[in-house]
Amino acid sequence: MNIALKNIAESDVTCSNCQACCCRMEVMIISDTGVPDKHVSVDEWGGETMLRLDDGWCSAVDRDTFLCTIYENRPWICREFEMGSDECREEFNVIR
Ligand code: SF4
Ligand code: SF4
Repeated sequence: MNIALKNIAESDVTCSNCQACCCRMEVMIISDTGVPDKHVSVDEWGGETMLRLDDGWCSAVDRDTFLCTIYENRPWICREFEMGSDECREEFNVIR
């Protein structure tokens, strides 16, 4: 029987063992941080989000290292997303 983990110790939640779970979320681009056009998806109303590929991850994730390839230009939302925060821990638990 498998029991889902709900209370993973905080020290277990780190980007190094997470494989960029949060980079599978929809990321709205709400300010110009210089994200290259090839990573931007524009909807019919002109709203911009990070492009996600068929595997579900943001197109800017390096598929081998799971690191952001546009770190210096990543969207504001990515900058604000804090490792170990409630949102982070939720993603970490959902995808594991
Ligand atoms: S911020 Fe959280 S969800 Fe995102 S890669 Fe790091 S540990 Fe994973
Ligand atoms: S821009 Fe970088 S940090 Fe933001 S979702 Fe994409 S890969 Fe992750």
